[in-house]
Amino acid sequence: MLSDRDEEGEYTKERERMVRSQIAARGIRCERVLAAMRAVPRHVFVPGHLLGSAYRDSPLPIGHGQTISQPYIVAYMTQMLELEGTDRVLEIGTGSGYQAAILSQLAAQVISVERFPSLAKEASQVLESLGCQNVRVEVGDGSLGWPAEAPYDAIIVTAAAPHIPQPLQEQLAEGGRLVAPVGPRWTQELIRIRRTGDQYHSDSLMGVAFVPLIGEHGWQDRGSVRRWE
Ligand code: SAH
Repeated sequence: MLSDRDEEGEYTKERERMVRSQIAARGIRCERVLAAMRAVPRHVFVPGHLLGSAYRDSPLPIGHGQTISQPYIVAYMTQMLELEGTDRVLEIGTGSGYQAAILSQLAAQVISVERFPSLAKEASQVLESLGCQNVRVEVGDGSLGWPAEAPYDAIIVTAAAPHIPQPLQEQLAEGGRLVAPVGPRWTQELIRIRRTGDQYHSDSLMGVAFVPLIGEHGWQDRGSVRRWE
């Protein structure tokens, strides 16, 4: 059996390897993003029975049919937000809290919204245990954004909607960046929008596959649709 300290050392090595072979090797160059990916222990965000897979090049299930995204996608979306240390960031889809922890390293404040109260609670506990004091997890329909704290310098959506939810665009600050997967239920395009005054400039970045954004400006919750409807 490894002692706790040896185990942590092993995880640190696995994380180094992850950053080198999955992230830097695929072209992520931003040193701040690479440092955040090296610093945040991904294994504390995955379910216990998947500890051995925490640094794999893939998404992993976290319960409620949801997933923690592939490390490369987390790094790529983060890089596309072009964060500065003074930025205020909104994340939609807290899930495990891993992406929020990465954002917390790179921005002044992070608000993360999750629709499942149990995921939100677990994520906040893990974030607190890591000392991520600049992250606040809220429960609600993130397709409406989080108007109380708007505007945001950056908004990241980690669940996919048929279109960019209008409230999110409205909650972007001047010069703000929004990164979100948009498209049909099973495969989508990652879109980046930049706000300049009242203009919104949109770029398509790459093909992706995210779980659905369920809410007023996203998909309907299939679980709540009755069979005879
Ligand atoms: N960013 C997460 C992974 C996201 S998985 C991580 O780092 O682990 C997508 C998450 O979005 C799921 O937890 C899902 O419950 C949540 N979600 C889906 N629709 C939502 C909505 N309308 N508002 C808030 N969260 C939502």
